[in-house]
Amino acid sequence: MQNVVVIGSGCAGWTAALYAARAGLQPLVLTGTQPGGLLTTTTIVENFPGFPEGVDGFELMSRMQKQAERFGARASFGTVETADLSRSPFMLTVDGEPVETRTVIIATGASHRHLGLTSEHKLENKGVTYCATCDGALPVFRNQPLVVVGGGDSACEEATYLTRFGSVVYLIHRRDTLRASKIMAERTLANPKIKPVWDSVVTEVLDVQQDKVTGVRVKNVKTNVESVIDCAGVFVAIGHVPNTQIFKGQIDLDENGYVIPKHGASTNVPGVFVAGDCADHVYRQAITAAGMGCAAAIEAERYLATMSQ
Ligand SMILES: Cc1cc2nc3c(=O)[nH]c(=O)nc-3n(C[C@H](O)[C@H](O)[C@H](O)COP(=O)(O)OP(=O)(O)OC[C@H]3O[C@@H](n4cnc5c(N)ncnc54)[C@H](O)[C@@H]3O)c2cc1C
Repeated sequence: MQNVVVIGSGCAGWTAALYAARAGLQPLVLTGTQPGGLLTTTTIVENFPGFPEGVDGFELMSRMQKQAERFGARASFGTVETADLSRSPFMLTVDGEPVETRTVIIATGASHRHLGLTSEHKLENKGVTYCATCDGALPVFRNQPLVVVGGGDSACEEATYLTRFGSVVYLIHRRDTLRASKIMAERTLANPKIKPVWDSVVTEVLDVQQDKVTGVRVKNVKTNVESVIDCAGVFVAIGHVPNTQIFKGQIDLDENGYVIPKHGASTNVPGVFVAGDCADHVYRQAITAAGMGCAAAIEAERYLATMSQ
């Protein structure tokens, strides 16, 4: 029987594990298929406090793991397939094996939607990115033309943010109006550095041969005419999918699948807590995920203390 099972090994999961471990709870961290979480897919992280020169994403996550393990956290490479949260203790199925636990911290993150292009995949982290806040300030994008793909609030926010760095920001959207809220759309379109490219989809990111982004091939969906836009970076902002499907019907989720936290890091099920991007469609940063992980562990510790009284 486990005291605390942390589902997920990103910033939220390992920070929750650190706090739970220091409280003597020997948490079990289930890594999922991406040990270390999303941050391991990026090179330099420049906005995590405490690293004035920046830190490699993989290195940062290895350090978080080591720090939690030092106090007794245990990592297990496993994916939760089902979760029965209607019984006490809770029952998880991890790669076919049952795991019983008194508390659960859900820290499963959110996956970004991809365009689904081979060239996009090949140039990921070589000019193709999914986070303007994370990567926009990198030297490679400074004073260069940039492309944002999408038409919602996130795409507008990313495009506006990127005007600080890029010479011009092309906002490529498949329709002829933005899906974003009215005020956000108006502000975006009023920005002289943002050039909307309407009714268009990206069909290829250039240039795989050069192993870096030099432009995008776009097709106008109304005329079928193709053209090339030169750029140094492609910021894909077409949404995220929280990894919460296994909790559907048990944990309160919003219409997009994000966990709805209650009183900070709690959920509608007593003993189940949540942290990180799977409950946050607003900030989606390493430091906010870590902060939520801390809160979830403190709540789990308090819950276990009341159980044993
Ligand atoms: C390319 C890129 C660059 C970024 N750069 C920065 C940056 O510079 N600064 C910054 O602050 N943020 C950055 N971010 C955002 C940051 O990575 C996320 O905000 C952060 O990783 C969220 O942490 P998390 O723990 O909530 O989720 P994640 O890091 O997504 O971790 C989720 C974890 O859950 C596990 N999991 C999922 N489902 C299951 C399951 N069923 N069973 C078991 N485990 C499961 C996964 O394997 C993974 O370990 C970047 C993101 C990307 C994609």
